[in-house]
Amino acid sequence: MKNPREEIERFIEKNDLEALLRKAAEFHGHLCSYLAYGVKAGYIAMKELRVKSSGMEELIAIVETNNCFSDGVQLVTGCTFGNNGLIYKDVGKTVVTVARRDGTAIRIALNPEYEESIEAEYQEANSLWEKIVVQKEQVTKEQRERMMRLFVEMAFNELMKPAGIMFKISRLKIDVPEYTPIFKSIICPVCGEKTYKPIMQKEQQLCIECAGAAYYILDGRGIQRRYMLKTGPS
Ligand SMILES: [Zn+2]
Ligand SMILES: [Zn+2]
Repeated sequence: MKNPREEIERFIEKNDLEALLRKAAEFHGHLCSYLAYGVKAGYIAMKELRVKSSGMEELIAIVETNNCFSDGVQLVTGCTFGNNGLIYKDVGKTVVTVARRDGTAIRIALNPEYEESIEAEYQEANSLWEKIVVQKEQVTKEQRERMMRLFVEMAFNELMKPAGIMFKISRLKIDVPEYTPIFKSIICPVCGEKTYKPIMQKEQQLCIECAGAAYYILDGRGIQRRYMLKTGPS
C-alpha cells in the first residue's frame, strides 16, 4: 500500500497551505480561523523539524487546548489522539509543541496581541458568533449560513497572514515521553467487555465501570474526574 499520508506530505512540500486547510476541514467538519492556525502551526513544525510522520510516535505533538486548533495540528503533523502521537496538556492555551524523538522541539503559541488586533477586522463574524454560539439565540437559517460563510473567508484569510506576527515561536529541547506501553487486556467478568485498564476488587479484576470506580473523561471543558457516565452495557 502506498503511504497514506502521501498527499498531505506533498502539500507540505509544495507549501500548499490552502490544500492542507481544505483537507483539515474534511476532518474537522467546518472551516474556521482556529483550524487555520492549527494547520499553519503544524506546517511550520513539519518544515522546521524536517520530519515525516507515519503515526508511529516518531513525532509527538503536545497540544494545550482541545479547540479547533488541535484538529489542524493533528491533520498536518499526523500526531493524533488514536496513534498516541498527540499528548493533551489541559491548560487551555492555543499552543502546540512538536518534538522529534531526540527531543528537538518547536513551541508555537498564538500571539495574544495578534489575536486581539484582528478582532475589528471580523466584526460581523464575531457578533454572529456571540449571538449564535455563545448566547444560543434563535436565529434564521440565513444568519447561521452567513456566519459559516464568514468563517470560511476568515479561515483562508488568516491562513495567509505572516507567521511572524501570528505566533510566538521558540526552539527547545524536551524530554519526550517513552513509547506507549502495550497493556494486557482482560475480559471483565461482570459485563463481558475487554479492557486493558482493569482494577482489582474483591480479588477479581473488573472493568472500571463495573467496579464503580472513578475515571477521567475529556470533554469540551477539559479533563474531568467522573463517576458513572454510563455508556457500557447495563
Ligand atoms: Zn472550528
Ligand atoms: Zn465490566
